[in-house]
Amino acid sequence: MAYDPGNIFAKILRGEIPAHKVYEDERVIAFLDIMPRAAGHALVIPKAPARNLLDVEAADLAAVMAVAQRIARAQMKVFAAEGITLSQHNEKAGGQEVFHLHVHVIPRHIGVELRAPLSYKEAPEVLTEQAARLKTALMG
Ligand code: 5GP
Repeated sequence: MAYDPGNIFAKILRGEIPAHKVYEDERVIAFLDIMPRAAGHALVIPKAPARNLLDVEAADLAAVMAVAQRIARAQMKVFAAEGITLSQHNEKAGGQEVFHLHVHVIPRHIGVELRAPLSYKEAPEVLTEQAARLKTALMG
């Protein structure tokens, strides 16, 4: 399937819509999910156009995963997480809703279930505050 540059994450990359960014380098950006399945839920994406795992360049995938690890380590501190769940969806049948490759990095706590996908929209001021704390931890 072809990459559609009209997807929402492509718009974030082009600066056409805002995002609560927590990390950026030459290949990757990371920002908070606006409908978090748990507090601190982040998304890591390559800057290069890639629909999903099936078409991404290996070097971009490696860069995304290295950033996912850095985000996970920072989330353990900032959100006092006890664990981290990664998820990554490919095509409609695989649960993908936004067709630009992304890895979900989700802080977890014992006994706390994830919210259902797209079930809860976080307040922008909460995301702003969480993003600032995560960004600081990532710089440290
Ligand atoms: P998927 O099901 O494709 O793996 O997940 C897409 C994710 O993108 C969902 O968790 C959803 O909450 C998130 N999302 C959808 N639209 C936006 C948006 O405009 N901004 C941000 N930050 N996240 C979004």
